[in-house]
Amino acid sequence: MINTAVKQEFGSNPLKVRDTNHYQAEYVHSFVDRWDQLIDWDRRAESEGDFFIRLLQEQGARKVLDVATGTGFHSVQLLKAGFEVTSADGSPVMLGKAFENARKRNHILRTVHADWRWLNRDVHDYYDAVICLGNSFTHLHDEKDRRKALAEFYATLRHDGVLILDQRNYDAILDHQIEPRHNFYYCGDNVRATPEHMDDSLARFRYEFPGDEVFHLNMFPLRKQYMQRLLHEVGFQRVTTYGDFKETYRESEPDYFIHVAEKR
Ligand code: SAM
Repeated sequence: MINTAVKQEFGSNPLKVRDTNHYQAEYVHSFVDRWDQLIDWDRRAESEGDFFIRLLQEQGARKVLDVATGTGFHSVQLLKAGFEVTSADGSPVMLGKAFENARKRNHILRTVHADWRWLNRDVHDYYDAVICLGNSFTHLHDEKDRRKALAEFYATLRHDGVLILDQRNYDAILDHQIEPRHNFYYCGDNVRATPEHMDDSLARFRYEFPGDEVFHLNMFPLRKQYMQRLLHEVGFQRVTTYGDFKETYRESEPDYFIHVAEKR
């Protein structure tokens, strides 16, 4: 169903909203329009460099499914680099914006509207790689949804396929009360992204834009080792975790972890 709401709606007690389906109501048009201001494409491309392109090339990947297309940043980067890309997302608002963004850059996105939990109902093909980037997997609030989504990602991969999934370093925030520097993905000017509330099952982030426009996202704070365990448990044989695009790092330092989960 297309979310035509103008304003985000978290009800009278926003801290109670811990629901996997709620992402649809969080990505309202006005927030999606602001998202690209939050994620400055040029600066993001500069900070990521060719990290994902190299990873995919090392894995011999050619055909990629972007399951968390959002406004299209990675889909477009990969199309530019010559990969064959299918762009999926559970939010039609996001997919619309991604299509428009790609058109402006002379690319036509092949889009699929699909929720990860039922991905293979809408995606009927096999891929060398599935990417789930930009701290997206954190939107799943229940463990059964996380397991279901990973199983669906696994099923759409070829026998030697790879899943690349990233997450914010929630361990650092939960354990050390460190406020992340958010200089990797949230590169836009004049945007403040701060954790407004953290507990073991909720990370509520506040996004402030110029003109006092404020949005929120209620997410599940994934711990790194928990995520690695889940990936192994659904069947991935090898999981390598990078910290802010580097193979070696101190646990509390990175803002983001990137898991590369290999099926073979
Ligand atoms: N990858 C993009 C980026 O890095 O800019 C988008 C990231 S955005 C934080 C998260 C995306 O995940 C949103 O576009 C949202 O619609 C999508 N998403 C969240 N939960 C989902 C689900 N259960 N099924 C499909 N898409 C989902």
